[in-house]
Amino acid sequence: MSPDSLDRLRAAVRDVPDFPQPGILFKDITPVLADPALLREAVNGMAEAFAGREVDKVVGIDARGFIFGALLAERLGAGFVPVRKKGKLPWRTRGCEYDLEYGSNAIEMHLDALAPGERVVLADDLLATGGTAGAAMRLIEETGAELLGVAFFIELAFLNGRDRLADSAPVHALLTY
Ligand code: AMP
Repeated sequence: MSPDSLDRLRAAVRDVPDFPQPGILFKDITPVLADPALLREAVNGMAEAFAGREVDKVVGIDARGFIFGALLAERLGAGFVPVRKKGKLPWRTRGCEYDLEYGSNAIEMHLDALAPGERVVLADDLLATGGTAGAAMRLIEETGAELLGVAFFIELAFLNGRDRLADSAPVHALLTY
């Protein structure tokens, strides 16, 4: 991906201070999504890490991971699997709980979403502490599928989320802050 493309993408991400709570600088990706050329560049950039590889499924995390994940799946010729917040999926699920700064969260995936040996890419919009992606990786591992890598649009490197994930699969991010 060219430095120009990365600059254009970086310039389009909007910083929103104190959302959803004081002290958080929220990375708003909606200006990227709204621009056809930037959206294409973002998805192409995320797909580059998996060029020439056979991918069976892209797993996307609720909710902005659905946007990048589904487009990435189409781009890689793979199917799409949603990981959702607890209680949202209609059929039988496996779940994983993970700790937040205060309290905990739980995500779920359908029991038949992945088969052993399937080649999987995990996708989300943003890597912060890595708690969410780490939980999704555990769900994928439980199925016996093979995790080829994790693709983020944005990585907040100062939160060191990568350290929590890097052992299990290569971690790729298009924009690093
Ligand atoms: P974490 O589990 O800490 O890695 O948080 C990752 C999830 O929280 C991602 O799905 C992001 O959508 C969201 N998130 C966390 N921090 C931010 C931020 N500063 N801006 C936008 N989204 C964020």
